[in-house]
Amino acid sequence: MSQKNSFLYSVAAAKCPRCREGNMFPKGTLYSTRFADMNPNCPCCGQTFEPEPGYYYGAMYVSFGFNVGIFLIALVILYQFVEEVTMAMMIGLVAVVVVAFLPIIFRLSRAIWINIFIRYEGPCSQIPKRA
Ligand SMILES: [Zn+2]
Repeated sequence: MSQKNSFLYSVAAAKCPRCREGNMFPKGTLYSTRFADMNPNCPCCGQTFEPEPGYYYGAMYVSFGFNVGIFLIALVILYQFVEEVTMAMMIGLVAVVVVAFLPIIFRLSRAIWINIFIRYEGPCSQIPKRA
């Protein structure tokens, strides 16, 4: 198995969980106003990316975990540079972290979420297409 269709790569690159080839999100929209736009189906194998309405509700918990993690890392870094961390700094830090990482965390959370429920079946050319 090549590096390109490893589990970690397919999650990080937001690839289809079923074939790990098609993109979940349209190209070139990560840091744009269309960052939340998602392909309805895998352009390669046809796997639907939203099996039911509200499917990604649970991805919010994944996203929350990432935000907390990044915030803690940012806080540790901040402590290296400032004598005393104030509440205003913390609020500013949360705002910066959440806004700066929003598109990445949004997509990563959804990619992780869908990978929990849809299994890898093989390369796109070797599995049946879904309508
Ligand atoms: Zn696919």
